[in-house]
Amino acid sequence: MSELQPLSPRRKTRQIMVGKVPVGGDAPISVQSMTKTDTRDVEATVSQIYSYAGAGCEIVRVSVPTKKAGEVFHEITARSPIPVVADIHFDYRLALVAADGGAACLRINPGNIGGQDRVRAVVEKAGEKGIPIRIGVNGGSLEKELLEKFGTATPEAMVESALRHLELLEKEGFTNTKISLKASDVIRTVQAYRLLAKQVDYPFHLGVTEAGTPFGGTIRSSLGLGILMAEGIGDTIRVSLTGEGTEECKVGHEMLRALGLREGGFRMVSCPSCGRVQIDLNRVANEIEAGLKEIDHTGITYAVMGCVVNGPGEAMDADLGVAGGAGEGLIYRKGVLVRKVKEEDLVPAFLDEARAYKEEMSKAGA
Ligand code: SF4
Repeated sequence: MSELQPLSPRRKTRQIMVGKVPVGGDAPISVQSMTKTDTRDVEATVSQIYSYAGAGCEIVRVSVPTKKAGEVFHEITARSPIPVVADIHFDYRLALVAADGGAACLRINPGNIGGQDRVRAVVEKAGEKGIPIRIGVNGGSLEKELLEKFGTATPEAMVESALRHLELLEKEGFTNTKISLKASDVIRTVQAYRLLAKQVDYPFHLGVTEAGTPFGGTIRSSLGLGILMAEGIGDTIRVSLTGEGTEECKVGHEMLRALGLREGGFRMVSCPSCGRVQIDLNRVANEIEAGLKEIDHTGITYAVMGCVVNGPGEAMDADLGVAGGAGEGLIYRKGVLVRKVKEEDLVPAFLDEARAYKEEMSKAGA
């Protein structure tokens, strides 16, 4: 084992509970997402939450933008398999309705709801229900005075906004809080979280907002969240992508696994392929990965390699690996060659081996 310490120790934060999911302290960093349905459509929203949960989502946020959405919110929380955060802007009465409707957390900015009396009403309700509040500062919607003071949505302006909201809650004695500071670019997001991390011990919800399409968004989120988590900052994460929420969850989990911050799920190594490749590696790797998702959620490592030059080494290092040859593939199990199959049979053969291997591991209690 290397003695290098690649990640900084985790920032010490107080722990809050979002439903059954602990956030902060020594709790594992959780993955969350947000529904993209019309909240008034309960069936569509609940079905989306189920698909997110299947993709590893641990906390889901649902926007409650209108009275109508507030009225059906309790039906969603009653049927959701994971804790539901109510996302509220401006209308504190919707926060009260959502809290009564089973919200596991309220995302609301106390400075935007029109006065300390309203803050008190929300805080009292959150206290009565035992649910936390997330302050969500967004670089795109900072208070006018702060934009005037700082010229633009700088990290300092975002931090000052968070501290102002926080003060309104603390004034009422409320500290069951987590905070997010999202900007749409990596650098500002990272700087803002770093700055605030020095000033408070509340847990942080990390995200790069409006990160973009799956390609660009995955990169921006991985960098922004990756930098912060490598510095020990972050207690729960949301990858935001223009696209499927299930992808957001998968990317989030993959990020945590890549940093060694979460276990679970299989790991698949595959080579980029090069001039030596003699099979359709792209197809084989994608089909194997899709098949493994159906079979395996354990910590098994698989390798899919393109050729017999560099492939066998990696394939033999994995629990189960394949190295492509001329129109064929060699399947290795724990470093031992167990099968040689034609390229067209490679995917089903590999998946059969994966099933058998996983079954044996489960029986052995691994
Ligand atoms: S394993 Fe073979 S095909 Fe894949 S990148 Fe390495 S040399 Fe190229």
